[in-house]
Amino acid sequence: MGLSQIGEKMSGMSGLRTIMEDIATSTAAGSSDWLNLSIGNPSPIDEVVDAWRELTITAATEDFASVSCRYGPSRGMPTLVDAIVDDFNTRYGWDITADNVVVGPGSQMLCFIAAALFTGSAGTEPPQRLILPMTPDYAGYQGLSLDREGVVGIAPRVQVTGDRSFHYGFDFDALERCPKAGMFLLSSPSNPTGRSIDDGELARLLGVARERDAPLVVDHAYGAPFPRIAASRLTPQWDEHLINCFTLSKAGLPAERIGFAIGPARYIRPMVSFMANSALHAPQLMQLVAARSLTTRLLDKLASEVIAPFYQARRLAVERLLADLLPDSVNWRLHAGKGGMFCWLWIDEDWFDDMALYGLMKTKKVFIVPGRHFFVHPPTGTTPGGHDTQCFRISLSADEDTIGEGIARIAEGLTHLRRAD
Ligand code: PLP
Repeated sequence: MGLSQIGEKMSGMSGLRTIMEDIATSTAAGSSDWLNLSIGNPSPIDEVVDAWRELTITAATEDFASVSCRYGPSRGMPTLVDAIVDDFNTRYGWDITADNVVVGPGSQMLCFIAAALFTGSAGTEPPQRLILPMTPDYAGYQGLSLDREGVVGIAPRVQVTGDRSFHYGFDFDALERCPKAGMFLLSSPSNPTGRSIDDGELARLLGVARERDAPLVVDHAYGAPFPRIAASRLTPQWDEHLINCFTLSKAGLPAERIGFAIGPARYIRPMVSFMANSALHAPQLMQLVAARSLTTRLLDKLASEVIAPFYQARRLAVERLLADLLPDSVNWRLHAGKGGMFCWLWIDEDWFDDMALYGLMKTKKVFIVPGRHFFVHPPTGTTPGGHDTQCFRISLSADEDTIGEGIARIAEGLTHLRRAD
């Protein structure tokens, strides 16, 4: 059997595949001794789990035959599409219609569809690229392009903001010089850093997108209006070059695969067709549940009253654990942020290598994510020397004891790597 070029690319190892395999290892039967600080699962907050369970039971009891036992429209169930239209028009004063909405089996698939539609070869040379305006960004974006070198990542400007903190900024000069762009994509608030763009940065990104006549996709997986896991400085906006992506995954339903995109009809129409040709449509029972969570405002209530305060408190608790447990003699810094599902750490030491820590932590039964998976190689713009191999991500969604034990073992690992140097 021979694989096509696309087959080679999609079956190859990637950061996301490594994370998914680590999830499989740490959740396999008999593997309870693993501490998994790598996954992007939301915390199983009781109030959130109970609310989704109740809505799902009601939908399954009352509507199972009419929604689960028949195919539906590729754009999404009208009940959900209409709920999205009403919700976003009321919330943000937009004037969207069903033509501006597509529901899909998670935002990963929606981003994949957009990248397949708007990047790659369009009979022109060179092919249109998927541009990540600031790396590090979500490891899952690297697999969105079917071309081997289809993803371009702009290196960040690194600003040290304190003894133990730092922050990334955009390198807009490098972005403006970037090669042929088919689509721009970023998460805000970002996975892995929790950094949110603001209105001014969005305007500047849109300026570049408009100039290239390419869509800018903003992935709000952690932000406003839900799930509000990380603080967002941006109110979602409408623009003729903007596609906004949302998901229920981080609001508590990662396994049920419901996300949606809102944008100009000229972008959304081909996305609906692609959905028909690939997945047919998203699961319908959960579309009904999603619709009810919007019309009853339950999702808003969970986001603002339960999820946001939970992650703000969790982040503060983990910041304390890091300060207490990581070795004082190691020059570590945490990307500044409020709330969020992750801590993004930079070990500002020449001896540090993210893959060495990842390998060592596996011997200590801890999964972390090596930082390089969030950068594109080679970077566009100037990466400060070695920065992309000096970072790693830990997740805040495990319980506090697990995180504390994991950080204690990471501290041992750092001490070991420093001594071995
Ligand atoms: N976008 C970002 C920024 C993510 O971090 C993730 C998952 O970790 C996804 C999208 C995937 O979301 P979904 O479950 O909706 O496909």
